[in-house]
Amino acid sequence: MQAAVLESVRQLNLREIEIAESLGAHDARIRIHTVGVCGSDVHYYQHGAIGPFVVRAPMVLGHEAAGVVEEVGPAVTTLRAGDRVCMEPGIPDPNSRATRLGLYNLDPAVRFWATPPVHGCLRPTVVHPAAFTFRLPENVSFGEGAMVEPLAVGMHAAGKARLKPGDVAVVLGAGPIGMVTALAALAGGCSRVFITDVQPPKLALAATLGPIAPVNVREENLGAMVRKATDGWGADVVFDAVGLPQSFAQALDVLCPGGCVVLIGMPGAPVPFDIVAAQVKEARIETIFRYAHVYPRALALMGSRKIDVRPLITDHYAFADSVAAFDYACHMKPTSVKVQIELG
Ligand SMILES: [Zn+2]
Repeated sequence: MQAAVLESVRQLNLREIEIAESLGAHDARIRIHTVGVCGSDVHYYQHGAIGPFVVRAPMVLGHEAAGVVEEVGPAVTTLRAGDRVCMEPGIPDPNSRATRLGLYNLDPAVRFWATPPVHGCLRPTVVHPAAFTFRLPENVSFGEGAMVEPLAVGMHAAGKARLKPGDVAVVLGAGPIGMVTALAALAGGCSRVFITDVQPPKLALAATLGPIAPVNVREENLGAMVRKATDGWGADVVFDAVGLPQSFAQALDVLCPGGCVVLIGMPGAPVPFDIVAAQVKEARIETIFRYAHVYPRALALMGSRKIDVRPLITDHYAFADSVAAFDYACHMKPTSVKVQIELG
């Protein structure tokens, strides 16, 4: 089949590749309709590796996908041909200790699309376990379905924060993950969210998504703004969707006593961390790695329109132009948030 194949660093081709996939009893075969381009795909394209994951053999890119079920295995009862679905890209070992503990995202044996050596989904069809394939509500488009993957990260972060109704949150970074985290925080009960960035178009877009106050940290003082809005108390929760060394100091600075910092962004190297600054506030520090079983909740929120990700889908490419889509994603205009490739 034709697929977007990363041969090695900076070498991406749309070409024939043989992928042997047989339909197991519990699987579905899905015709892919839309695939989102993620920062991790772009990183593999530009650098050939993320941490310990190194591209050593040609690998199909893409892990944010929605499509239509073509056929299902004999044991599948939850799906049928014609269903519009999106897929969770990480498949754990169902018998692993992590999976049995409900921490399947942390299963060392997890196979995740487009994480070497596992092929991704930028190809016409995939075979996927029905248990990791979710029907889209009628009013949710394929493009929105493909946004469930990044939204799931924000949802998982909101869950880790243990939000309470009325919380004030700060989201550091208005990239795609920062944006969906702000949406998840509002859906989770936050009364308002401050979001930071240095690119005015991103902040302007974020401000249209709900009670979200944009803060250009190049010109404005986040700490002063948050303290002013909270009678000097600080934010209940700070989500770091940046992962730069300075973001940790900033997170602790704007946090209220007893508040929670959720670390989402992944620094490229170890960073210094002021433990005393955290201790004097008894800060609760949470970390996340991907997500575990939040797709149904994300789809329910999209279906009820409590979360609307449509303004975040800014750029569309045809499958034939996949390489151009990736080249654009490497150097996006600041008005762009999510590039999607359409096969259907
Ligand atoms: Zn992604």
